[in-house]
Amino acid sequence: MLEEYKKKRNFKKTPEPIISKKPKKIIFVVQKHDARRLHYDFRIQIKNVLKSWAVPEGVPKDGEKKLAIETEDHPLSYAKFHGIIPEGNYGAGTVEIQDSGTFENLRKITLEESYKEGKIEILLKGKKFNGKYALINTKFNKNPKNWLLIKMN
Ligand code: MN
Repeated sequence: MLEEYKKKRNFKKTPEPIISKKPKKIIFVVQKHDARRLHYDFRIQIKNVLKSWAVPEGVPKDGEKKLAIETEDHPLSYAKFHGIIPEGNYGAGTVEIQDSGTFENLRKITLEESYKEGKIEILLKGKKFNGKYALINTKFNKNPKNWLLIKMN
């Protein structure tokens, strides 16, 4: 689709951007969201979106499990968002970035397949959150959006 763009330019001579490959490293972010109810939004890149979960109690520590309620996909650019969502808007309140970084998929199947299966295992490489985490779609209380976020030892 970008063939024509490429054909018309010599990237050694123009400062215009070269067509870049999708970045190799996939990203995650944890945002502290002081909305109607304080919660933490845990988001990981799967393909071109941030799959998102609201974690009321925050990211678990070693050996802990926390309820994580799936929310709507967010754009990748949301990983850099912090600020105030004004009163009267969806999610009104303050958003702070608690941590962000890259992560690795620890399973042998793709993240997309893991997500569909309801079992994601990842290695976070953040400043605050590091190590192995799992997300399991337990469908607790018969709610398909209920997952558990687990910090593995
Ligand atoms: Mn939120």
